Amino acid sequence: MLAACSKNNNADIYVEAVPNLPGNFMHGVDLSTIIALENSGVKFYGFDGKEQDIFKILSKAGVNYIRVRVWNDPFDAEGQGYGGGNCDVKNAAAIAARAKKQGMKLFVDFHYSDFWADPSKQMAPKAWAGMDIEQKAAALEQFTFDALKEIGQHGPIGMVQLGNETNNAMCGENKWINISALMNAGAKAVRQYNKNIKVAVHFTDPQHGRYVNFAQYLKNFNVDYDVFASSYYPYWHGTPENLTAQLTMVRERYGKEVLIAETAYAYTEEDGDAFGNIVSDPRGQMYPFSIYGQARSLRNVIAAAANAGALGVFYWEPAWIPVGADYDANRVKWEQFGSGWAASYASDYDPRDAGVWYGGSGVDNQALFDFNGHPLPSLNVFKYAKNGASMRENIIDTIPDIEVVQLRTAPRVLPETVNVVYADGSEQAVPVTWNTTQLDAVNTIGDYVIDGTTSGTAVKCYLSIEEKNHITNGGFEDRDMSMWKISGSVSREGHIERRTSDARSGEASFHFWDSEPLNFTVTQDITGLDSGTYMLSAYLHGDNGGPNAECFIFTQTDLGYKRADIELAGYKNFQQAVIHFETDKSVTVGLTVKCAAGGWGGWDDFKLFRQ
Ligand code: CA
Repeated sequence: MLAACSKNNNADIYVEAVPNLPGNFMHGVDLSTIIALENSGVKFYGFDGKEQDIFKILSKAGVNYIRVRVWNDPFDAEGQGYGGGNCDVKNAAAIAARAKKQGMKLFVDFHYSDFWADPSKQMAPKAWAGMDIEQKAAALEQFTFDALKEIGQHGPIGMVQLGNETNNAMCGENKWINISALMNAGAKAVRQYNKNIKVAVHFTDPQHGRYVNFAQYLKNFNVDYDVFASSYYPYWHGTPENLTAQLTMVRERYGKEVLIAETAYAYTEEDGDAFGNIVSDPRGQMYPFSIYGQARSLRNVIAAAANAGALGVFYWEPAWIPVGADYDANRVKWEQFGSGWAASYASDYDPRDAGVWYGGSGVDNQALFDFNGHPLPSLNVFKYAKNGASMRENIIDTIPDIEVVQLRTAPRVLPETVNVVYADGSEQAVPVTWNTTQLDAVNTIGDYVIDGTTSGTAVKCYLSIEEKNHITNGGFEDRDMSMWKISGSVSREGHIERRTSDARSGEASFHFWDSEPLNFTVTQDITGLDSGTYMLSAYLHGDNGGPNAECFIFTQTDLGYKRADIELAGYKNFQQAVIHFETDKSVTVGLTVKCAAGGWGGWDDFKLFRQ
């Protein structure tokens, strides 16, 4: 038998021990959709292969806390659920009862909306439409108290979150004086219900130095809270070191406890339920999309939390696996049981997002269970984090595909080696042989895939052949933005700026959002061109621009003005605009955005090629 408090050297994953992990560290998971999944026929199994209650499986794997989101009224007028687990108070109460049986406390996450609340949307509940801020605060206080009372009858509540990812707004309010009034109304209800419950606030994306602003607003407006919680998704939100630095700053400067309320990582590129996943491309990511990569991601988030003196880490929806593999059969279940991220019934409340994109699980490849409900070895990271674990033999995990960009006129040479990644995360360069027939056929601008072989394993090179791009910093990768002239302005909350997030390629993009209507233009002057025909192209994603939104790129030369429009088609759903034009020496290229309050988006990959 394995002795307590020692490293497991015969595990099925590597987990580097996390120094100074407190004994009362919260190893939590968000299990909000679990009942909708079970109602859809999803089953879960223990490591012994036998069907078992998922709360028991999780408890055995070291999980000691359960998070659940609460929407006020996620149902339409006919009582049909919006989906995403139909997470009302009743659902939370049922989950509380299940958690209690395993000795686990509940972390209640109030969105104060009838459906998803995140930085792009914070809609007030239907029942609170038209209320002024005093009425809304009173309604929120009463709802919070009543909900805690009902949930608490079924299982113990340890922590309560007031609003979800409230970076830009909460419950339809975007001014801090109002947001803070609502948070204080919620805090008052929590304190009144039970003064031993921790009160948390929640923000996302520690990358942009905004946490100091949020913590300062909370202080300025005297918000009563204990815990400053952050979402942290490694593929969007920067390094674990920065996460530690931001949370440490809040803890030390503002005297608050800190927490990682959401994290997750993909273990596969595959999709299990015929509804596309929000993260599916491992290229350029911090860890491989493998069980070992997922384990390392979770371990490093736990370490980042421990280094910041945080209370714990909650993995987001580790059990949101497919309800089946067939789209048509799945759709019936998503609609009937609310086991997809959104049902069509949410269309009236959330027409622009759920109303268009409703469907299944976008995160089944980030679960800690496989598509059939069997636990992945990475689930045991919680259990192994304190003392570490290693495998008897360090095996090859993946050989990541590579990306190469070459000018058309450059010699067609690919790297002689690629890096093999082992299960423990170590890497080693090994020789690769590329398919010369494919490589010899590359002769013009475009994207190619060249097959390679190394030690009998297949690897791919994604080769892009380009002409010289005459735009400087067209992908916004360089911090120096002086070549781009920005005209137009934003409100105090808004921004139009380079950001290291939501890039179509590379690390950065040009992001915009405002709580007020936006109208701005960004230009770059390009001189010294040879006379000829050129092509300008660029990409844009975003949403909520309103019915009169205009987003376009343009070119201005001595020979005339041209413009090409792009639609805001949703998060990371990048649309391209292209202009062909003639010039004899110079051109001004640019972008313009005119959109309604709440509109947001990001530009990337400006290219200007001679044709
Ligand atoms: Ca999926």
